[in-house]
Amino acid sequence: MQRLQNLRNKLLPGGPDGLLVGSSPNRRYLSGFRGSAGWLLITSSGAHLAVDFRYVEQAKQEAGGFEILYISGGLPAWLPGLVSRLGINRLGIEAGHLSYDTYMELAQLAKTAKPPFKLLPVKNLVEDLRMLKDKAELAAIEKACNIADDAIVALAGRLQAGVSEKQVAWELESLLRQKGSDTLPFEIIVASGPNAALPHAQPTGRLICEGETVIIDFGARCGGYCSDMTRTFMLGEQTEKFNTVYNIVLGAQMTALSIIENGMQARAADALARGMIDRAGYGEFFGHGLGHGTGLETHEAPRIGTLSDDILQEDMVFTIEPGIYLPDWGGVRIEDTVTITDGKLRTLTHAAKKSCIKGG
Ligand code: ZN
Ligand code: ZN
Repeated sequence: MQRLQNLRNKLLPGGPDGLLVGSSPNRRYLSGFRGSAGWLLITSSGAHLAVDFRYVEQAKQEAGGFEILYISGGLPAWLPGLVSRLGINRLGIEAGHLSYDTYMELAQLAKTAKPPFKLLPVKNLVEDLRMLKDKAELAAIEKACNIADDAIVALAGRLQAGVSEKQVAWELESLLRQKGSDTLPFEIIVASGPNAALPHAQPTGRLICEGETVIIDFGARCGGYCSDMTRTFMLGEQTEKFNTVYNIVLGAQMTALSIIENGMQARAADALARGMIDRAGYGEFFGHGLGHGTGLETHEAPRIGTLSDDILQEDMVFTIEPGIYLPDWGGVRIEDTVTITDGKLRTLTHAAKKSCIKGG
């Protein structure tokens, strides 16, 4: 399997000679196993998946090429024996995913095993591989984007004043599911009026009124892969302030979309959009990064923000989502999921922006 080979290529001499993987998206990415619990142990020539009674049959069906281990009890019951049998001296562990309890347990096992083995914390080994999507992953994400497009277009035609944020969120959720989404990747955000000044507001019982901003941030999931998009509406007559703020955010987003290409520093893309919002006088009201990778998780590498060291590359999938949030007034965020194909940025979500606002 190509993904395992890519991982093995990263297990360099002097580094780990085996990798223990317990993080759910990493486990799924490497093995295809979709269950919610289990451990992978991967060496240069072997691939094991340890699962309990609930998942044995599922693991056999989904994790082709893996040797399935039926385990009961925690790590102590099986890990030292397998590590010894595979001749692992330096076991890589996922530093960013282990709980303190599990780490302490592993440290004790490593010390008391016969022979003892070392633990080598590794970071982002699998996450870095996951940044570059293969054809099947891109197809799943494109499908999730198409479903999201269809759902928001259908919803925009029905949006009306006097309906609560929660009702709108539920209507959009059912549209997404009807159009083919699996369980949603994250809870839909519908934030109206002053609530729209909170970038990650949760839908409330507040009734949406004319003349105020409504931010709707949502995604679909297909074959495990997510899409992520945001549209901002104003019902009724659009105010001058709304048009001003909206056009600044749209301008920043369109500029980023037009200029990003293979090899661009993520930090430079962020700086470009941020500079435009800053020069318009709203810099302090754009407090989050320009975007983030998306895939098996809604938020994954790369990061597109002021502190990012990531380089935007061919076959990465990420979002571009500038926003302006004004306390007591509301906010505007416009977000699309994009990828880089043949060196150039390609937008995967296509639902109309300005033109889908009533009266616009
Ligand atoms: Zn979003
Ligand atoms: Zn996002």
